[in-house]
Amino acid sequence: MTSTTHNPVRHRSLGDHSWQAEAICHSTDYNPVDPEIFFPNPEETNKIATAKALCGQCPVRRSCLDAALETGDTDGIRGGLTEEERGPLHEKIAHRLDYSRVNDTIAGRDIHLTKAERRAVIRAAYRHGVTEQRLAWLLKITEEHAQKRYRELRRALRNRELNLNQPETATAPAEPGREHLGRDDFGTAA
Ligand code: SF4
Repeated sequence: MTSTTHNPVRHRSLGDHSWQAEAICHSTDYNPVDPEIFFPNPEETNKIATAKALCGQCPVRRSCLDAALETGDTDGIRGGLTEEERGPLHEKIAHRLDYSRVNDTIAGRDIHLTKAERRAVIRAAYRHGVTEQRLAWLLKITEEHAQKRYRELRRALRNRELNLNQPETATAPAEPGREHLGRDDFGTAA
């Protein structure tokens, strides 16, 4: 399993589009940008090079790519990557397990999480004695749901303990396609 630990990256809050104001491709009277260059055909290499050069100087490149991956926006150049270059990242995003996101969520930030990251938040919250009420708030779920998640986790931990005490325990084979991917698997911009 590949995963990442906490890093200083500031993840985009859910619903926060303020980063777009800093985008180099944000066209203004003083900085006119033709949006068409971000939607080139694969053979339009000049357009692609021009768009990539702009992305290369963009201060919100990472937020741009994160937003595209998290919202499933597969059209056009985003975060310096063409549709074709971004394709594999869109396929892998569901398996991301980025601990910097888990830590940010535990700290109270409302950011995009994959299923694996939500499960990691529940485990981390439980380990740190976070109350069910607080977990509900962190994950934007009901308290009832949070209680259920903790019950499931307690059961899983108990079962694991029991299995560890067995003289011989069969190890379940890894489920294909369920490997977890960390932030580093999403390139420099993700
Ligand atoms: S990375 Fe590129 S596409 Fe994204 S906001 Fe910046 S300039 Fe625009």
